[in-house]
Amino acid sequence: FNPDEPFVTLVTPTAPIQPSTHGGRAKCLQRLVRLDLPVPRTVALSFGTVHDIANGEMPDLDQLLSQFQPVALLCVRPSSQDPDWGGPGAILNVGMNDASFVELSDKLGAEAAASIYQRFVQTYAIHVARLDPDVFEEIDAQGQQGLSDALMAYEEEAEEPFPQSPAVQLAEVLRSMARAWEGTSARLLRQAKGAPVDAGLGLVVQEMALGLGHGECGSGVLQLVNSDTGLPQITGRYLSQSQGREALAAGAKSLFLEQDDRGPSLQDLAPQAFEELKEHAALMRRRLRAEMQIEFTIENGRVHILDGVRVDRSARGNVRIVVRLVEDGIITRQEALMRVEPRALVELLHRQVDPDAVRDVIANGIAASPGAATGRIVFSAADAQASAARGEPCILVRRETSPEDVRGMHASVAVLTERGGMTSHAAVIGRGLGLPSVVGAACIRIHPKRAQIIARDGRVFQEGDIITVDGTNGEVLSGAPEMLEARLDDSFQTLMDWADAEGEIDIRANADTPADAAIARGFNAHGIGLCRTEHMFFDPGRLTVMQEMIFADAPEDRRAALDQLLPMQIADFTELFRIMHGQPVCIRLFDPPLHEFLPSDRAGLRDLAEALDLPVSDVTRRVQSMEEHNPMLGLRGVRLGLTVPEIYEMQVRAIFEATLTASKEGDPVVPEIMIPLVSAPREVEIVRTRIDAVAAAVRNEHGRDFDYRLGVMVETPRACLMADKIASSVDFLSFGTNDLTQMTYGLSRDDAGRFMSAYVNQSVYKEDPFHILDVDGVGELLTVGFERARAANPDVVMSICGEHGGNPESIAFCRGLGFNYVSCSPFRVPVARLAAAQEAI
Ligand code: PEP
Ligand code: MG
Repeated sequence: FNPDEPFVTLVTPTAPIQPSTHGGRAKCLQRLVRLDLPVPRTVALSFGTVHDIANGEMPDLDQLLSQFQPVALLCVRPSSQDPDWGGPGAILNVGMNDASFVELSDKLGAEAAASIYQRFVQTYAIHVARLDPDVFEEIDAQGQQGLSDALMAYEEEAEEPFPQSPAVQLAEVLRSMARAWEGTSARLLRQAKGAPVDAGLGLVVQEMALGLGHGECGSGVLQLVNSDTGLPQITGRYLSQSQGREALAAGAKSLFLEQDDRGPSLQDLAPQAFEELKEHAALMRRRLRAEMQIEFTIENGRVHILDGVRVDRSARGNVRIVVRLVEDGIITRQEALMRVEPRALVELLHRQVDPDAVRDVIANGIAASPGAATGRIVFSAADAQASAARGEPCILVRRETSPEDVRGMHASVAVLTERGGMTSHAAVIGRGLGLPSVVGAACIRIHPKRAQIIARDGRVFQEGDIITVDGTNGEVLSGAPEMLEARLDDSFQTLMDWADAEGEIDIRANADTPADAAIARGFNAHGIGLCRTEHMFFDPGRLTVMQEMIFADAPEDRRAALDQLLPMQIADFTELFRIMHGQPVCIRLFDPPLHEFLPSDRAGLRDLAEALDLPVSDVTRRVQSMEEHNPMLGLRGVRLGLTVPEIYEMQVRAIFEATLTASKEGDPVVPEIMIPLVSAPREVEIVRTRIDAVAAAVRNEHGRDFDYRLGVMVETPRACLMADKIASSVDFLSFGTNDLTQMTYGLSRDDAGRFMSAYVNQSVYKEDPFHILDVDGVGELLTVGFERARAANPDVVMSICGEHGGNPESIAFCRGLGFNYVSCSPFRVPVARLAAAQEAI
């Protein structure tokens, strides 16, 4: 801190006041002074001065008090650099003593003077002298009796009379506020809001506008918008004969501001003051370039502006507020984009638990898919479907989910699992469907057989009980709290269009079905970056055909199953191409982790036995023979493509047939075909030769030409290291950061949820690496892969398509490296588009 700096600075239009030296409130008050608003005389104390005060170095207060001659009552408020970091509460009426009581009694009447004095004694006793609050809050008497009770109580508790010297009072007030800022709990609180360890506190000392006395006197707050909706509406409260923010706490005793049918208003009581306030607020909005809430006092009809703070607002309100500021020519589009936190858009995209609702939390888990929903507990996909058929919203509760549960997920309003992590089956599918999901809630016990959940605190919830899954916060609540509906209004669309014009990296969607694709288009995704084709077979009818194909022993049985799958896939792909209207569609060849497709219970085994016309015992044996110890490292991805080539051949034939059909209806479609889980360049070579052969056959059969692009998913560490060899023979590479994270850490994406919180709590990992990209390790592999590939093939298109694709931090990382696009779940596209725009601005 600068030792030459004056310890008090009068707030004038030209005084050297900055948020970084005197705090945001001091700076804002200076702006109000510059606008010539009726702001009472104010001085600012710098961070350095307040720091010295906390350490026992009290400056010469006569110099400070001399700024307020003739001596007036003062108020002291905190001024931290960022208002969100908080600070000690304001203290009003400093300087009140027996002498000023006599003076004020003459001016305002004894009643008002006593009331002001009593308030100050009470505040001082509790917040400065730190006496027992109960003693002072119990005093019922008003007026002079109340005052003498308070003074007596003070003397008894403090064992000395109430201090009469204004300089002593002020010194004690400044000291207590400075110390409060240095306290441990205040420090932890502000650090949780992003304040640095050494964040400073400034203080502003302002002459009081009293708000009590003869004529119309009082105080209140006013803003020009509704905080929830962001729509223009004069909101706030006013209370006659009050000070500070009392009007807000006074409930029905306080007045509305504008005349309407809700009851008496400030406009009725003091029309002139009301008009003035509106004008001041409009001027502040225009010149401070933000929606502001003003704190005002009326003194015998005269308006004083004491303070201005940024209007507190919901995420929904904020979007409309910034869009309106642009439309009114006050801020630029770029500024508006920078004023919206990308993750806050989640609040607009999904229903949420009302922040004011009472929350009875019964379990915590991983917030796998945002939004909230209320429904009755069911424990199986079949019960979920039955519940949906009855029109009863239900929540599917499972230890973990598998493809057999997907139909149940479709029928549910939310999902809760005991196991799993950010990229486990339930999480990936939940996000794709936009279904609120909490996974890995290890603190509960699920007993499907007894149809019970045992909550963290031992409470038992039965099938049919009503719970709420809050996938935004990773909490499960008992009962049905109040909700706020999703709201995608015109201002959201406008903001998204502006974001699109700025973003320098494309945003595609991971979309597996026509429904996903339609959502992705609705959010203006720049194409599909990943269609996981195995997800097209979750439908009960289709799942069995898929299982038949996986299970077929003899080539002719497999052929028969594939013949059934072919027309389904042609229809699927044709539909995707149609919906995406010529935008790129990247189709990944089958990557079914086999365990996800094996029947997991007796009913599933029986269904499969029926479909295959085999005894259950045969099917059970076959299932057992296919079981793998590490299915995620087993016969997946291209390994299945190499060992059972007919599967990929069927899929690429379907893609080409669909290409020809869709091209007939519009511009030629150029499909992108992607090979998953590659770890050796030779895998690509083999698959490519087969795809080329199918392409030649389809061209021949139809007598028509078409083009396609071939790409590889880089999701094993080896593929990153060999990226140069792989890139030289393909058109694009897409980095699958889910598997890459799993394999880099040697951490199962399905099971890590069990101990992830222990790892994060002990700071072994900064965050769940399945959620936030691990820049140091996985990021290094991405960098190596990216650079080697680029050097070997300058034209190769590169992207990431793991779940990280939708995270603002990962987008920054990808843009920094030079990736062409990121691909994420459809509902995360808007968040990603905004984050990409902010990166570019
Ligand atoms: C990945 O591994 O990052 C990926 C996108 O593929 P999947 O999640 O389907 O394994
Ligand atoms: Mg993968």
